[in-house]
Amino acid sequence: MEQPSDTYEIITRGPEQTRALGRQTGEALTRGMVLSLEGDLGCGKTVFVQGLAIGLSVPEAIYVTSPSYALIHEYPGRIPLFHVDLYRIEDPAGIDDLGLYDVLNEDNVVAIEWAERIQEALPPEGMVIRFAMVSDDTRKISMTAYGLQAANVLRTLRE
Ligand code: ADP
Ligand code: MG
Repeated sequence: MEQPSDTYEIITRGPEQTRALGRQTGEALTRGMVLSLEGDLGCGKTVFVQGLAIGLSVPEAIYVTSPSYALIHEYPGRIPLFHVDLYRIEDPAGIDDLGLYDVLNEDNVVAIEWAERIQEALPPEGMVIRFAMVSDDTRKISMTAYGLQAANVLRTLRE
């Protein structure tokens, strides 16, 4: 990643607030955005992606679940949303087979849980979102923008 242009930090209390942050982010997203979601199990990465789907106008009847086994889920929205979870990836070199590189393009939004495992393989621009557990229902979420497109999303969140 290049030099970060901006960071936005927020505390959420309960999953609804994390989902709301995801929704606001999804509303502001433009095509080609890659979101790297980092943090321990149970920190709220998947909850955040549920909000992203709402913000990207994925039909409500389609429920966003963890892609831990399939590794990649696709959701039809205003922009196609791909949700990736690399938790179970054993060999980061083997992700070619997943089709991840086929979906990382200017047409889509790609949200990747445990993206730190393939950091070198990701494009230089995008957003890194770190989730930290503060207490049972409190999370610290730190969003760092790399490049102009991501910085614009953070600007919208601050408004
Ligand atoms: P991850 O994908 O990071 O492993 P999940 O999103 O699947 O985590 O799960 C987060 C869990 O934490 C859910 O059970 C959710 O209800 C709970 N939770 C409690 N407080 C929060 C919060 N502030 N934000 C997100 N999730 C929360
Ligand atoms: Mg998850």
